[in-house]
Amino acid sequence: MSLFAAVEMAPRDPILGLNEQFAADPRPEKVNLGVGVYYDDDGKLPLLQCVRQAEARLMEKPAPRGYLPIDGMPAYDNAVKALVFGADSDVVQSSRVATVQALGGTGGLKIGADFLKKLNPAAKVLISDPSWENHRALFANAGFAVDTYAYYDAAARGVNVEGMLASLRAAAPGTIVVLHACCHNPTGYDLTPGQWDAVVAVVKERGLVPFLDMAYQGFGHGIAEDGAAVRKFVEAGLDVFVATSFSKSFSLYGERVGALSVVCASKDEAERVLSQLKIVVRTNYSNPPTHGAAVVATVLNTPELRALWEQELAGMRTRIKAMREQLVQGLKDAGVTQDMSFITRQIGMFSYSGLTKEQMQRLRSDFGVYGTDTGRMCVAALNSRNIGYVCRAIASVLRG
Ligand code: PLP
Repeated sequence: MSLFAAVEMAPRDPILGLNEQFAADPRPEKVNLGVGVYYDDDGKLPLLQCVRQAEARLMEKPAPRGYLPIDGMPAYDNAVKALVFGADSDVVQSSRVATVQALGGTGGLKIGADFLKKLNPAAKVLISDPSWENHRALFANAGFAVDTYAYYDAAARGVNVEGMLASLRAAAPGTIVVLHACCHNPTGYDLTPGQWDAVVAVVKERGLVPFLDMAYQGFGHGIAEDGAAVRKFVEAGLDVFVATSFSKSFSLYGERVGALSVVCASKDEAERVLSQLKIVVRTNYSNPPTHGAAVVATVLNTPELRALWEQELAGMRTRIKAMREQLVQGLKDAGVTQDMSFITRQIGMFSYSGLTKEQMQRLRSDFGVYGTDTGRMCVAALNSRNIGYVCRAIASVLRG
């Protein structure tokens, strides 16, 4: 009997499964809106100019590839702190933030989850209903019981803030609350600044542990605007976890560049927390890779490359917004009578379209337009060539 005879086949990742189905679809007009990736108007994954220029500079002085420190490249970690909290912020100035370079945003979440499990093994985790599909699996695999807090209000096409606050008020002290700092995935609906204030107040009052997932900084309203929620938690004096991802904002998906930052009450506490985060890293993969972090640190720490990045990021953000507007107009032109203007109120890469599972399946089978069964579509995969076709396909499906 083989060692693996009883191993069961794990369920396919729903998004990857969709990609495989898309790749096998022979129709030339097919469109993949199931992805979580930004494509440019030519339907290509961009290689940002700021990244090219940073790589050219790095190649001018090729460096040997020794091991990085366990917590990552210092220039990178410092740039992350400055970006997320502000270089002049009190927490950064007083060295109260422990930051480790991580393997993408996912890696940042996992380091945080493993550290929290050691800190408070009995804690529960709450994620939004719905949430990025990996949140539940990641925290469950770290050993936590994972539940949801109310978030999406389908009828109101927005956030059920009262429900969310009620879920948080009912949570036991110490509960870890995973929050999307901006550009909520999958719904595209974010909290308003006032609603964030209310959430911060309840988190503080109930003694909950906020864990902000920041995978789309700069894709919503702007770099500073998208970081506002993080700063609200910090200003409230809370210990907060922030997972940062540069996968989207630098279009560096495969380089796995991210970070985990933990805001602590004192410098001494931050040093102790950092020492524990380093144990998590050391016992998982020893130390992080060099290239992506060197590129991002070069861009963030070189004023002209930083300016170029901000410009390119703004370009991605503006293109997505234009696609949202064209989608709403295109649906109207294609004869859709329902009010679809909620699409322009959503933010970030995704739109929760409100289409049913059956409608999403028809989009796939009849038109080769691929979105997830939940109705999520990646607006960042629309472009001037495919948008007309997508609008006609959605209109046809909505007519029934
Ligand atoms: N968190 C959210 C909400 C995401 O949508 C994603 C990516 O889709 C991630 C984290 C993971 O980012 P990364 O690819 O940097 O691990």
